[in-house]
Amino acid sequence: MSDHYVKVSIQLEEMKSFGEDAEKEGVDTEEQVPVCSPSASVSPPDPSSTTIAGRDASNTSITCKHRGKSRSKLGKDDKNSCGKHTSDVSLHGSVVSAHVGRNLNRLTHDRTLHVKGTGKILQGKSETNGNNVTVHPSKNIQETRREDGFKHARKGRPVTVDISKAKTSLEALKLSIKQLKWKEFPLGRRAACDIYWHGVSFHDNDNIVSGQVNKFPGMIEMLRKINLSRAVRTMQELFPEEYDFYPRSWILPEECQQFSTQIRMVKENDATINPTFIVKPDGGSQGDGIYLIRDPSDLKLMVGTQAKQAVVQEYIQRPLLIDKLKFDIRLYVLLKSLEPLEIYIAKEGLTRFCTEPYQEPSQKNLSHVFMHLTNYSLNVHSGNFVHSDSQSTGSKRTLSSVLYRLAAKGVDIKKVWSDIIALVIKTAIAVVPELRVYYQCDIPPGKPGPTCFQILGFDILLTKNLKPVLLEVNSNPSMRIEHEQEVAPGVFEYVPSPVDEEVKVGVIRDTLRLMDPGHKKPSISQHGEEIPMEAETQERSPDEGALPSLCLKQVYPKYTKQFNYLRLVERIASLFIRFLGVKGNMRMGPTAFRTFIRTCKLSNSNFSMASVDILYIDITRRWSGTMPDSREAGMGLQAFVEAFFYLAGRRFKSLVLREQVVSLLQLCEAQLESQSGVEERRSVSCSRAMPRAVRTLGLTNPQLNSPAPLRRASSQDYRLSR
Ligand code: ADP
Repeated sequence: MSDHYVKVSIQLEEMKSFGEDAEKEGVDTEEQVPVCSPSASVSPPDPSSTTIAGRDASNTSITCKHRGKSRSKLGKDDKNSCGKHTSDVSLHGSVVSAHVGRNLNRLTHDRTLHVKGTGKILQGKSETNGNNVTVHPSKNIQETRREDGFKHARKGRPVTVDISKAKTSLEALKLSIKQLKWKEFPLGRRAACDIYWHGVSFHDNDNIVSGQVNKFPGMIEMLRKINLSRAVRTMQELFPEEYDFYPRSWILPEECQQFSTQIRMVKENDATINPTFIVKPDGGSQGDGIYLIRDPSDLKLMVGTQAKQAVVQEYIQRPLLIDKLKFDIRLYVLLKSLEPLEIYIAKEGLTRFCTEPYQEPSQKNLSHVFMHLTNYSLNVHSGNFVHSDSQSTGSKRTLSSVLYRLAAKGVDIKKVWSDIIALVIKTAIAVVPELRVYYQCDIPPGKPGPTCFQILGFDILLTKNLKPVLLEVNSNPSMRIEHEQEVAPGVFEYVPSPVDEEVKVGVIRDTLRLMDPGHKKPSISQHGEEIPMEAETQERSPDEGALPSLCLKQVYPKYTKQFNYLRLVERIASLFIRFLGVKGNMRMGPTAFRTFIRTCKLSNSNFSMASVDILYIDITRRWSGTMPDSREAGMGLQAFVEAFFYLAGRRFKSLVLREQVVSLLQLCEAQLESQSGVEERRSVSCSRAMPRAVRTLGLTNPQLNSPAPLRRASSQDYRLSR
């Protein structure tokens, strides 16, 4: 076993405090199964044909407590205010020791699954579609920064990595750096490093002005359950069929009434329907605070005098079972860059199994956490948890072993895998717009700053019909390669977990390889399109000779043609960022909103500037009410998107929402383009002596260079209603 493993006895309390932040973000959730290596090669074939089937539901309430507490059946909830129920009845108990100590040192490489797809027959909308505007990866600030990094890249010196903030990913990171023969700086470094590895957030270390950081600003906020649900919902409004992989969700407390009314109506219409819902606290992780209900009156809306921020979601009643057990998939995804959008998926992942045979939800079993929740952190405390040393048995297995097993049963694994890829790309497209706003706020163009990348943990459930459903995305997936073992009451020891080491070190090492500042960067064609480079074919640095082929597979821009038409909100975000005004801002003030309306010529006699102001005040007020912790006043991106939809609806009344939005985007982009042309001509005639670089800095935003012709809507109605 690798020499880095030193068994350290750690008191549970120490352990908790060490990982406090990380734990909140789900860092320390799972891991340990002595499963096997990521030997499977499951390549993405045809991601497009995703059709996620109907979902089910049923009811009761489960309350899960912290790790270290035993969980089993949970009590039923008491009544409280809005929902007439109160009090969390939760299980407290003694720490249950982990079942470890099997043959952890042996990695089994016995099975290899080769399901190779061509990846070339993806369906989807072509770029010639009028709705389809390529967000060209023209050179932008992030790219220029990265290029600067390349220029200063090592010449013969090893890549330097600041690991002083790595927290729970430290061991896996150190192993990766060792394999790459790079240089680590455990205490940080006075001079700049090439790469900074943060354990929690972009802000773990605030004084970075160059290099690359493994976290994006705003990722934690963006992936909290409420924000993710909002972002996906916006996409569902525009593309309901494409975004049917996310269960229907309501945001609490603000949509409590709506939720109750809708469910009542559904039940009144068809008495045989008896759905179940899962309630998840906004900032929760590891199953903490989650419970199931079958009736809206069972919602627990208050914590003391405070309203609980949570998401209530349709419960998937018929998941795919293996050995009669429910399981979910943890997939590692690298967001390599926002602009241009670059996404990689790890070919190997983990599957986490429940420890009590699954039954469809009923009033009786709603509180059985070991039946309904797949979290490792919960199930490890069940007496049935199996720490197996085989990749294909036990309570945590490799993804490849599960796919292998399904393939053996005749399941079309290529289809499942391509559906998973589609889900990942679509989810990324949903969250990227807001991430771009965070990015420009923390790293404003023109100011020195690092570039960013991030490994995300996608939690995916397969339905009985083999459709992948997104449960959540973790901004800090656990990168621990040890798991805890109770050696004496209350005293825990970390022991190595070979499977975790194999999967996670692979993901970190290959992420570093892709972020190597000396790495050849993707080429840009004459037409401004990126020529996607397969990870495997990218130039290797001399040090890489002995390394295995990359376990990360590029899926974007590789599948740009199939998914680019979905990037409408990103174009709205480009407008938003452009008119934000003061750099470092995340919210648009009323003057900037007016400027946007004027510049894009969206007001007229039927929609006066007074109406514009009313629209601004109305939407901004409503959104500020939904975000109690918002510090800045003004209109955030989500509110701006709502205003944009409203304006699009008024202007292009006869169209469906998606076409309305496309039409308004084209209108705005064309206005801006024509104005930037005027600006350009003006600046050429007025200032011949002015350097070209200064002239072109004006209004042209590369993201808005859509060649889309100004499309005249058949109906241009300016009445105030939608
Ligand atoms: P947490 O961040 O607390 O782990 P998750 O959203 O991952 O919250 O949910 C915890 C577990 O609950 C999941 O691993 C899964 O087993 C189960 N679960 C979550 N959402 C659903 C759903 N909509 N339908 C069925 N099971 C779900």
